[in-house]
Amino acid sequence: MSLTLTPIESGRLTSAKGVLCEHAEGDITIPVSCWVVSHPKGTVLFDTGLHKELTTDSGRLGASADVFAVDIPAGEDLVALLSQKEFDAEKIDFIVLSHLHFDHCGGTEQIPNARIIVQEEEWLSGTDPKLIELGIYNPNDFNLGHSVKQIKGEFDLFGDGTVVCLPTPGHTAGHQSLRIELESGPVVLTSDCVYWQQMLEDMSFPPFGFSREQHRDSMLNLIKLQKEGCKLIFGHDALQWASLKDNVLR
Ligand SMILES: [Zn+2]
Repeated sequence: MSLTLTPIESGRLTSAKGVLCEHAEGDITIPVSCWVVSHPKGTVLFDTGLHKELTTDSGRLGASADVFAVDIPAGEDLVALLSQKEFDAEKIDFIVLSHLHFDHCGGTEQIPNARIIVQEEEWLSGTDPKLIELGIYNPNDFNLGHSVKQIKGEFDLFGDGTVVCLPTPGHTAGHQSLRIELESGPVVLTSDCVYWQQMLEDMSFPPFGFSREQHRDSMLNLIKLQKEGCKLIFGHDALQWASLKDNVLR
């Protein structure tokens, strides 16, 4: 069995574009994505998307409910989406979380048997009472009694260089991307280090974030990887997603 990378669409968010990209105008609808990496030694889910309760009630979003309209069609919770692609939620071995914002870890409770892999800095932020009170993190999304491995820096998940966590801090303190060595070539799932391609080309940023300086360095690092031949898959790029969502990458 060789490595495969399967896209999962966990709903969509609509907001003013300026909420996501400084100085942008108009509205935008973005996909919320998760990815399954099948490796001979285990099955990995990169991010878990939106919480299923958001299908009918955006209450758990707190202040973000005023900013984002959530669209999750009925019946499209994570267990169902995984099963449509022939994965069993109970047999996911690892959840790699890019970061702990609501649209990246909301499905964690539906993946009961996985070990969570997260940067230590991110876990510290996500469990910081002040940041929870501000509504930036909701521990009910991710702090649910799973086994949690907190990592510091690069982490080679299977020890063979094929699935590697790459720190890309800035958007949040402990944001990370995931590099996968497919037979067709290396791929990096950038998550929210880059929402969509144009933002990387323009070096534009969200109006909020942990550190603009770190974010810029992380983006420059991704550009370097791209020049070395890595395919970048962006966190919320509707155009790119349309070309990826129905296929399995090998
Ligand atoms: Zn996001």
